[in-house]
Amino acid sequence: MEIIMAKYGEIALKGLNKRTFENILIKNIKKTLADLGEFNYDRIQSTLYIEPKGKGNVDLDETVARLSKVFGLAAIQKCKVLPKDFNAIIKDGMPYLEKSLNHAKSFKVEAKRSDKTFPMNTPQIQKELGGEILNAFPHLKVDVHNPEVVILLEIRDKAAYLNPERITGAGGIPVGSSGASLLMLSGGLDSPVAAYMIAKRGLRIDALHFQSPPYTSERALMKVESLCAALKSYLINTRLHCVEFTEVQEAIRDNCPEEYSTVVLRRMMIKAANLLYRQKLERGNNVYGGLITGECLGQVASQTLSAIACTDAAAELPVLRPLIGMDKTEIIAIARKIGTFDISVLPYEDCCTVFTPKHPKTNPKLKDVENIESRFDYYKLVTNAVNKAQIKDF
Ligand code: ATP
Ligand code: MG
Repeated sequence: MEIIMAKYGEIALKGLNKRTFENILIKNIKKTLADLGEFNYDRIQSTLYIEPKGKGNVDLDETVARLSKVFGLAAIQKCKVLPKDFNAIIKDGMPYLEKSLNHAKSFKVEAKRSDKTFPMNTPQIQKELGGEILNAFPHLKVDVHNPEVVILLEIRDKAAYLNPERITGAGGIPVGSSGASLLMLSGGLDSPVAAYMIAKRGLRIDALHFQSPPYTSERALMKVESLCAALKSYLINTRLHCVEFTEVQEAIRDNCPEEYSTVVLRRMMIKAANLLYRQKLERGNNVYGGLITGECLGQVASQTLSAIACTDAAAELPVLRPLIGMDKTEIIAIARKIGTFDISVLPYEDCCTVFTPKHPKTNPKLKDVENIESRFDYYKLVTNAVNKAQIKDF
């Protein structure tokens, strides 16, 4: 029988409220694995034993792949459950190691023995098991410093667990343990990466996307939906709000000095986010503690410090900008790792690229911006748009 051992990351170090974090983590894991089959969950110290219920059918590789995206886990190990008898471990264990060892050059054995009644001590287990492996796979060399494969044998209370492969977990803390926030999600490269980085620190994320049909196409919306789907194992539970901003953008085009249109649009987006926050607050559910954007200092005209000051002034919640000090190459590396890159580079237009001014103001002053906004009731159009938001859950 094979099971999965999932080891806690940071939450293993939490004190009194470790249990709360643990409960959130397990709830998230169950949600992520729900469509793969049924599992038994057993928690012992800082390890979660995940065992498929019934025989066969569960795709354990896919299970491991999903778990490797769940924040709060430091490592995931698929392992074979063996009787606590050294001869049986060798007999049943060797064939299990073939896949990992046949093509490797070097290995080392690590043993852990929490069941002190087991007749061999840790160094003995390591030595004996290492010898048996060398007999069975004579092409291998032992390398204690830099082995290609580490074979881990843990002798625990219930059984012995043999595993040849340790997969690094996503780290971070469980989504939901820090509350929730609202992400401004475009179809670009940056905002999905921002979502990943913030979810890693325990925030559950809902998304807000603006589209401007007919200037933006149905496919641009599908792109944003694909991004939410791709991020699902990381974000666990996301409600996407789609707001049609066509009228707001046309009003800005027709009434606002062109060089200020970028900063005014950005502020109207923030005001739309404020409205969603207040609507939630009234209903008393899933209240947001912050807004998240994919802004990065100096990347484009709307991302200078003075433009950021103008957008911040419109916000009723703290605005989190996890990418603020990152280079594009660093952002792209993460986008590739989390599987959003290929979707983000699809060439469909974003509403921000509709009516873009030739020379956006890079140094806007809040006073001037507020003065310009006072000349037209953009806010009424923003409110109408938010009230007609389309919702989809991921
Ligand atoms: P991204 O790659 O995330 O689109 P960007 O480099 O293209 O970012 P901008 O277009 O200036 O930069 O957008 C800055 C931020 O504003 C985005 O990261 C996102 O958080 C928000 N934003 C931009 N367009 C939209 C949109 N259509 N819907 C929701 N949020 C948006
Ligand atoms: Mg963009």
